[in-house]
Amino acid sequence: MNKEQILKKYYGYDSFRDGQEELINSILAGKDTFGIMPTGAGKSVCFQVPALMLSGITLVVSPLISLMKDQVGTLNQMGVHAAYLNSSLTANQYRLALSYAKEGRYKIIYVAPERLLTEEFLEFVRDVEISMLSIDEVHCVSQWGQDFRPSYLKIIDFVNQLPVRPIVSAFTATATKEVKEDVIRLLGLQRATVVTTGFDRKNLYFAVKSPKDKYAELVSYLKEHQNMSGVIYCATRKAVEEVAQRLEIEGYPVTRYHAGLSDVERHQNQDDFIYDVKPIMVATNAFGMGIDKSNVRFVIHYNMPKNIESYYQEAGRAGRDGGRAECILLYGGQDVITNQLFIENNRENEELTGELLEAVKIRDRERLKKMTFYCFTNDCLRHYILEYFGEKAEPTCDDCSNCLSEFEIIDITEISIKLIQCVLETRQRFGLMTIVDTVHGSKSAKIKQFRLDEYACHNSLSDITIPRLRQIMNHLVLSGYLLLTNSEYSILKVTDKAKELLEHRDAIELKVSKERERKAKSTETR
Ligand code: ADP
Repeated sequence: MNKEQILKKYYGYDSFRDGQEELINSILAGKDTFGIMPTGAGKSVCFQVPALMLSGITLVVSPLISLMKDQVGTLNQMGVHAAYLNSSLTANQYRLALSYAKEGRYKIIYVAPERLLTEEFLEFVRDVEISMLSIDEVHCVSQWGQDFRPSYLKIIDFVNQLPVRPIVSAFTATATKEVKEDVIRLLGLQRATVVTTGFDRKNLYFAVKSPKDKYAELVSYLKEHQNMSGVIYCATRKAVEEVAQRLEIEGYPVTRYHAGLSDVERHQNQDDFIYDVKPIMVATNAFGMGIDKSNVRFVIHYNMPKNIESYYQEAGRAGRDGGRAECILLYGGQDVITNQLFIENNRENEELTGELLEAVKIRDRERLKKMTFYCFTNDCLRHYILEYFGEKAEPTCDDCSNCLSEFEIIDITEISIKLIQCVLETRQRFGLMTIVDTVHGSKSAKIKQFRLDEYACHNSLSDITIPRLRQIMNHLVLSGYLLLTNSEYSILKVTDKAKELLEHRDAIELKVSKERERKAKSTETR
């Protein structure tokens, strides 16, 4: 059978998607192959189809037991003989699976990275023909990725111990330059074909909202989108519990998922969601990897995630069927603080210590900043995301909450100058909110403690609202007049660009949403 026939027979699809054919052809030509495609693009097909055409066994390294189980389950249902080898098997089950594998019963074997260098496994691979080693979620090899797994670093030792070097293929949805370079180097890919498909998901609509009452906003959205399946991501387990409970009481068909639930409950809830028994899932970011539900019509972020990588991956779980779906982020100032705490008490990865931990924190603070700017930009949201991933994109998409809003341009030159002067006058020692409080004339304990009320800039912009001052400050950071340093407390520094502004007084303009302006005015006058 050729690859088209396999796609039709096992998967029921008539044609390949963007990038798939090129990746499959490269593997079939015997070359190392590296595919970078967004979530939902169809990476599995890229290694499973050639696996069925190569003469020997394909080993697939995968980071999560649940992911392996799902994929193996799907393959067996499709009539492909596959198995997984990981710590969920008892010693006897493991041995039995290996002996079946030796008999050649499985074409595809999923294996946990920690298993590769065990004596038992090495003995097995020496006895059989391994045609391909395929590595899923390969960004786990890089310390720059979100989910660094030191065991991925050993994959190369495993390859070197095989009597015949197999084709190595690797896949991820993380497209940053650092990750790309790390994968090629740390896995020892040889003259690899690298295919990066576009990251744009045209069927997804993106929106950012900063509602006063997030819960009310959520409920009004759900009212307008009844009988649809969707995911609501919250930052903490506590928030998941609260939101899920309130929605349940109001009669919405919701279920929940977070790491604090028992295995049994998590499984049950996941199934209820997948089979549309309860089509709305409220979850932490523990939910989603390996979930392939095609009809998710919305992904709402009740809290801002810690970086654009996480956001795009989670939001990308909407609209896998190619149909229209909405990705909505509900921003609140507290979200930044929650994420800062997560970063400073990094508990996600106990393997990180010392200098490495510090480097990761610096990187994470930088990423959080870019995520926060996403919530403040008035430019095209899709453009912002694609540019973040290093892709050239049209400046406007005409299909995100910014492109669809009406804007007006206001002159903020004088206010900007006063803000920059305040940062200079207080000797570049404070963060964004403190500067805003100072110019607005606050007499809080902190202002008094640092005697900020004694500076000339104190109270110099008392007639401008705090939200507007924050918005302008964010604009000044985004456009490079002010720099937020990367220390634990983000301190503002004045750049050369700002110094030029003070000298030449060139005009600075800000794009503001007319609708938001109207809303802000109506709450002011109320
Ligand atoms: P990824 O791992 O890239 O997130 P998956 O491999 O889980 O994505 O595939 C996402 C969905 O797209 C799956 O439901 C898969 O069956 C489907 N899919 C993959 N390739 C094709 C194709 N050529 N035509 C139609 N659907 C496809």
